[in-house]
Amino acid sequence: MKIAVLGTGYVGLSTGVCLSEIGHNVTCIDINKEKIKHLRQGILPIYEPGLEALLASNITAGRLRFTTDRKELKDKEIIIIAVGTPQREDGEADLSYIEQAAKDISGYIAESSIIVIKSTVPVGTNEYIKKTIEKECGFSIQIISNPEFLRQGSAIHDTMNADRIIIGYENKAAAMKLQEMYRPLNLPILLTSIRSAEMIKYASNAFLATKISFINAMANICEAVGANIEDVAQGMGKDKRIGEAFLKPGIGYGGSCFPKDVEVLHHTASLYGINSSLLKETIEINESQKDLLVKKALIRFGKLKGKKITMLGLAFKPDTDDMREAPSINIARSLTSLGAEVVAYDPAAMINAKGILGDKILFANSVDEAVWNADALFIVTEWQEFQQLNLPTVLKKMKHPIIFDGRNCFKEDRIKACETIEYYSIGRPDMI
Ligand code: NAD
Repeated sequence: MKIAVLGTGYVGLSTGVCLSEIGHNVTCIDINKEKIKHLRQGILPIYEPGLEALLASNITAGRLRFTTDRKELKDKEIIIIAVGTPQREDGEADLSYIEQAAKDISGYIAESSIIVIKSTVPVGTNEYIKKTIEKECGFSIQIISNPEFLRQGSAIHDTMNADRIIIGYENKAAAMKLQEMYRPLNLPILLTSIRSAEMIKYASNAFLATKISFINAMANICEAVGANIEDVAQGMGKDKRIGEAFLKPGIGYGGSCFPKDVEVLHHTASLYGINSSLLKETIEINESQKDLLVKKALIRFGKLKGKKITMLGLAFKPDTDDMREAPSINIARSLTSLGAEVVAYDPAAMINAKGILGDKILFANSVDEAVWNADALFIVTEWQEFQQLNLPTVLKKMKHPIIFDGRNCFKEDRIKACETIEYYSIGRPDMI
């Protein structure tokens, strides 16, 4: 099939590459000329494991192209919109990119083209975008809501092995065409109304975020009563009705999806006069989790002025360079406002972090360099590299062997094996 994908971010690029990998003829379009120039040369604008090799092989095979030229839309059977939908200050979704994309494509699409919205958009947006395009192009079009569920860091795997593909439609023939596009993947497909498809995306992310905030609330109770959240989560997760996924306590979720999607759903509910205090609580618990390590450090040191604190991990989660809504931002800002000197290291997110935190903190080139002479070490993102650290070696380089672990990277026996260590984690007894 001839397919165009608008937007070459984490979602659009992964989608375009995977669709070409299963044999389709894909043209990826972006307004960012620099990005397109690099992609044509096989250079990735993002860090995403496995993506570079697939990008190169599909460009070479002639199935994958990159352009800024919207004239290329003319002969496309399916046009997938995967541009960003960030959150506005007032809590609503910022639809300006998708509105612009809709206007951009209107002059170039054919009457037979099917427009697929993959961006996460509030309920009713697909209908609104359909009307926007129809007003511009002067004929009626078919629109499909096809929300995306991939996770950054495992985007290729998730696209190729999705748990389900949601197709929200009003025209049966258009839905069948999209089913045909996905057929080589042989994945479960759920056909719904457009509004249900839009809602499935928000409800799924809100549920996952709430599960994280729930286990974090339990972790805080565990700390108070002297229980161990890791054992509690394991005991809970064995119950099939609960399940083991997303029961990992920590310093909160971040990224470009959970924070904004929960906020936007909360906002949508309030627009309709629906009580969504559950979502509000999910957000508030997450916000307070981000402060936990600094609070623990303040209790331990009294004050942080003049202390050298090492932060290992800046990205909002491992295996990505994405800093959007990363808890590391709050932590770095709190530490520096309290007068601490912060030195950070992340295997992939340093460039993006420098853009956000600038000269507020120092950036090291390695773990060894970062931990040198530190008064305390904060573990902020659970990269494999950090989970596999040789703790005694790291502790010897520090001024004081004190770790505040925001992701519970180390099991009790590894901490016990260290000669001298003070170890504070989330929802587990301190080990001093
Ligand atoms: P992103 O910010 O990484 O990328 C968006 C891209 O769209 C950018 O390259 C930008 O230049 C391009 N763009 C903007 N306007 C354009 C236009 N008019 N024409 C062509 N290109 C245009 O965004 P993302 O993280 O890939 O997210 C895209 C959408 O998918 C969002 O709605 C997001 O909520 C949703 N989503 C994201 C993830 C994720 O893990 N990142 C997962 C599921 C769903």
